[in-house]
Amino acid sequence: MKILFVASEMAPFAKTGGLGDVLGSLAAAIQGLGHEVSVFMPRYQRIDIREWELEPVVDYFEMIIGNHLEATRIFLKKLANGVKVYFVEHPDFFMREELYGTSLGDYQDNDRRFIYFQRAVLKAVQELDLQPDIVHCHDWQTGLIPVYLKKPGIEYAPFQKARSFFTIHNLAYQGNFPPDSFPPTALGWEYYKSDYLEFYGKFSFLKGGLVFADEITTVSDRYSKEIQSKEFGCGMEGVLAARNESVTGIVNGIDPKEWDPETDLDIAAQYGAANPAKKKLNKAALQKENGFPSDENIPLLGLVARLVDQKGLDILIPLLEKFTQQNLQFVLLGTGEEKYHQILRDLAKKHKKGFGVHILFDAKMAKKIYAGADMLLFPSYYEPCGLGQIIGLRYGAVPVARATGGLADTIQEFDLVTQKGNGFLFEDYSSEALYTAVVKALKVFKQEKVWKGLVKNAMECDFSWTASAKKYSKLYETVKRRTVKVEKT
Ligand code: ADP
Repeated sequence: MKILFVASEMAPFAKTGGLGDVLGSLAAAIQGLGHEVSVFMPRYQRIDIREWELEPVVDYFEMIIGNHLEATRIFLKKLANGVKVYFVEHPDFFMREELYGTSLGDYQDNDRRFIYFQRAVLKAVQELDLQPDIVHCHDWQTGLIPVYLKKPGIEYAPFQKARSFFTIHNLAYQGNFPPDSFPPTALGWEYYKSDYLEFYGKFSFLKGGLVFADEITTVSDRYSKEIQSKEFGCGMEGVLAARNESVTGIVNGIDPKEWDPETDLDIAAQYGAANPAKKKLNKAALQKENGFPSDENIPLLGLVARLVDQKGLDILIPLLEKFTQQNLQFVLLGTGEEKYHQILRDLAKKHKKGFGVHILFDAKMAKKIYAGADMLLFPSYYEPCGLGQIIGLRYGAVPVARATGGLADTIQEFDLVTQKGNGFLFEDYSSEALYTAVVKALKVFKQEKVWKGLVKNAMECDFSWTASAKKYSKLYETVKRRTVKVEKT
């Protein structure tokens, strides 16, 4: 089948978190199953035409969006794995330092940027006559596409046979904007009602995907259930419950070749499940880089994450002072909200010994932490899937995580008696519960032989896309056969 992905980010071109990773590796895995995969994403400033050898394939088309005439160019990059990536270029919207905003907040015109993006994608698919069987949209930035595909009159030839998928990578990011952002969608006010796109006095891109897509998926089984509850539904629980029959959880994978400590040249020494001994050289390197005492017996804890409320920083931060008084080392890499940057920088100034804070986005440093840390912390309040723990497991960094969403689905509590399990979980969203789990992990760490077994368990977990990509493929086939397009309005 011809599968068309639409997303706001994709590794290796541009990524701010797990969404980008998933797009890169899922596209490759679906292509690997014999489908023809194309991806549309914006050409951000950081995606250099020459460096990536992008080929212009559509030379300028113009569209009137709102009161503006917008000009678009489309570039193509054919990846070695067969996936075709199309880039939507606009002279202003994407020529910026960041993808969505800075630490001070979102770009003010994200509504216009992503309305434009989606309409430009639809037009480009028409220009290129791509004829997809499935249009698979990811997160709020693409939530209007399923609406357009169902809109009478917009079903021009390239989309006649298309069915739409919408994957929720994170329900909390909804793209909700005031009603005066709505007209540039050209959808007509009949779409601005509570059954459709209206959401508590705003218009919601995400709701478009949830109401209009033929099938909805999300990135772990547990999260697919959590989001139908009031606590995690972010106001959309009713919409999701109404579509319960069409909501499936499929856990994310990683590309095992991309995240492979045996071949990873960004880390100090290569190692794997069969030869784990050299992991300690990575720990020594990480200790040195952070100015920590070099001692393999001191447990080294890491955290790599976007620094936003979801990631559980409010339960972690009160513990950090406590950590500094113990015989452990802690290294954090992340970027996000200014309030967290401040607190963490202040703590780092106060405690230099064994406490490393890096407020930046740095893919290589992330790998060094995955390779060098003994444990990684995931105190998330909620976590749709989480890739950090999956990558960490592959690199033998044992997760200490809250039992929520994909963390609960991918981590099994280590059992001292059976020696089974790959990490440590806690239930309550509290500093005390997190601390108890860390203490438990530290106790096991002291038992060298047992810890080695646990690290082996972690590294032997299989989180390649093999099983999950097959589930998507099967669902594409089912939906393609099953769905009769219902014209709304
Ligand atoms: P989310 O999608 O919520 O950000 P995930 O755990 O699914 O969380 O994915 C996070 C991805 O982003 C992982 O690949 C992680 O290594 C990476 N990442 C997060 N923060 C940073 C950072 N500051 N520098 C480099 N990589 C980061």
